[in-house]
Amino acid sequence: MRTLVTGGAGFLGSHLCDRLILEGHEVICMDNLITGDTDNIAHLMGNPKFKFIKYDVTEYIFIDGPIDNILHFASPASPIDYLELPIQTLKVGSLGTHKALGLAKAKKARFLLASTSEVYGDPLIHPQPEEYYGNVNPIGPRGVYDEAKRFAEALTMAYHRYHGVDTRIVRIFNTYGPRMRLNDGRVVPAFLPQSLKGEDLTVFGDGSQTRSFCYVSDLIDGIYRLLFSSECEPVNIGNPREMTILEFARTINEIAGGNGKIIFKPLPQDDPKVRQPDISKAKLLLGWSPRVSLDEGIRQTMAYFKKKLDIK
Ligand code: UDP
Repeated sequence: MRTLVTGGAGFLGSHLCDRLILEGHEVICMDNLITGDTDNIAHLMGNPKFKFIKYDVTEYIFIDGPIDNILHFASPASPIDYLELPIQTLKVGSLGTHKALGLAKAKKARFLLASTSEVYGDPLIHPQPEEYYGNVNPIGPRGVYDEAKRFAEALTMAYHRYHGVDTRIVRIFNTYGPRMRLNDGRVVPAFLPQSLKGEDLTVFGDGSQTRSFCYVSDLIDGIYRLLFSSECEPVNIGNPREMTILEFARTINEIAGGNGKIIFKPLPQDDPKVRQPDISKAKLLLGWSPRVSLDEGIRQTMAYFKKKLDIK
């Protein structure tokens, strides 16, 4: 099996490369390193089954030889990144997905799109099943990501229906783990280092908004199963354990032993009030459900941030 991972030097992309290598795939990792980092794949460099190509997938993609699978994971993925990189976010979701699908069609490869719970926007249905169409503000600050991913889903289904490309769509809910960027701005890489350094934890709004956090190894396992299933319509992958952000901040301080206070900052525009995946479909079709507890996952992630921050 020869597999291309776009965004392969990112948080999820690099964990996918690891899993694919473990399963015996030959892996081509493509990344323009805007938000990805070669540190995430340094351990794979020199492996004869791994190749890294620094490339922007919004440009025409050339690959010699056959390709069996394309996993399209290239995209900025944190609200701070969308604010700083709005045009790149829109381009990689639209033009990048077009190029990756074009390659899948030419190589007769299976194609898997990394979509997101953001397609549900600020949801009016809770928890969110795949049948829900969502509640997205197209012109808000998060619209660049949400709409790019919604367009990417539409394009993927069009290539499936019109060109017969063998496609998969995973809707990824909040995921955390080693290799998240320290300055990424998402809640786990914000709270954990704050707590480890004994700083105050910055809760946005009153902290009553909810999220449901999935550990990265569980997510990757769900994606791998989806890739080799025959389901071409979207499948939610995430951990249904839901909590408020305030509860989450307290949990992080308990596990990391932080003694800082919880302080409140303004809530970003269009920040979803609730989010929890309905994973019935993944359970039924893939026999998948998450296994790693929040406590265990946070401990693993904490060990990573301690190393990065040189904290003993
Ligand atoms: N959040 C927070 N403090 C931070 C960073 C994020 O309270 O320092 C909140 C954010 O407003 C949101 C939740 O944590 O309600 C999850 O944010 P994240 O950026 O991780 O991802 P989102 O789920 O919003 O895409």
